[in-house]
Amino acid sequence: MATLSLQHIDKIYDNNVQAVFDFNLDVKDGELIVLVGPSGCGKSTTLRMVAGLEDISAGRLFLDGKDITVTPAKDRDMAMVFQNYALYGHMTVYENMAFSLTLRKENPNVIHKKVLAAAEILGLTSQLNKKPAQLSGGQRQRVAMGRSIVRNPKVFLFDEPLSNLDAKLRGATRREILLLHKRLGATMLYVTHDQTEALTLADRIVCMSMGYVQQVGTPLELYDSPANTFVAGFIGLPPMNFYDMTVSAGELAGEGFKVALTAEEQDTLRAYNGKTIILGVRPEDIAEGPDVPVTVTTNENLGMNTLVHGHIGASKAASAKISAKLKGWCDYKNGDTVTFSFKRKHFFDKETTNAIRKGE
Ligand code: ADP
Repeated sequence: MATLSLQHIDKIYDNNVQAVFDFNLDVKDGELIVLVGPSGCGKSTTLRMVAGLEDISAGRLFLDGKDITVTPAKDRDMAMVFQNYALYGHMTVYENMAFSLTLRKENPNVIHKKVLAAAEILGLTSQLNKKPAQLSGGQRQRVAMGRSIVRNPKVFLFDEPLSNLDAKLRGATRREILLLHKRLGATMLYVTHDQTEALTLADRIVCMSMGYVQQVGTPLELYDSPANTFVAGFIGLPPMNFYDMTVSAGELAGEGFKVALTAEEQDTLRAYNGKTIILGVRPEDIAEGPDVPVTVTTNENLGMNTLVHGHIGASKAASAKISAKLKGWCDYKNGDTVTFSFKRKHFFDKETTNAIRKGE
């Protein structure tokens, strides 16, 4: 059993940089939470405050209902897996994994059992006598995880654990972490700047920007109903397209194109008649259709899909750029003209950048 509660947590560093503002989150037992956002948004700082590696400037932190705001790191019963593995080069895999238990002077038989069990879970059984230098990056990462597993901590903390791995290994290790989470049923907090990792791993995502939590929700909630243009642009690849549009009865008018609104969309935008809003359209929600004239610049075949980049009408302005992810194999050339339609639209308030939702 391990629940975490972060309540109104701030972090102000000694140089007066405020890295985290009013962070609130209740982590359920066994939940895998991914903190995601661009570099410098305060993810690691938050994780390090949970670990006890940074002081909490304001707010409270609870583990299983117990206030651990000022509890030293070593007494928090958490294990952190870093991106640089931090393995001891002179020790074997076995010794690396056993190290924290040996320090605690656990019974050698118990240590042996725990190390073998962790090695089994991680597929490291045949590597136990090797030194870290003899292992691949992926195997080293697993040893680092093994060191955490043997301690049977209440909470696992991961700080960008895959960022030193190449793309293929990243995918494989990501799936291993997912299986590990299922198998251990452990509460985990995982930091990454990679939206794909967030979408594929998380039970719930915490999306951050500039020290503030922008949205907390399941991957589908963040993808389907982003709270604002930041989340909308950060989650999803290629990123969502955004256009300033004027709302009038029945349609939206932008630079060089118009799109019709369904009755339901008109209802959602009722309070915005005559005003400018931000229209968001995901590349995968665009298809060939009669509505939006586009001049193609590049055509990227991905096999199942084609990424078509271009601009709306004849405009070369950055605001007129468009990226579409079309089904199947397309062969557009630079300069081709095509028309697209938007299958799904997201609306955002121009002033607040918050999503405009029906009935709000
Ligand atoms: P992220 O993990 O999202 O990349 P960090 O939590 O590392 O972001 O950093 C958040 C902000 O805090 C950044 O502006 C960073 O420069 C600043 N920061 C991080 N560590 C320190 C520190 N030890 N002293 C002062 N500022 C720091």
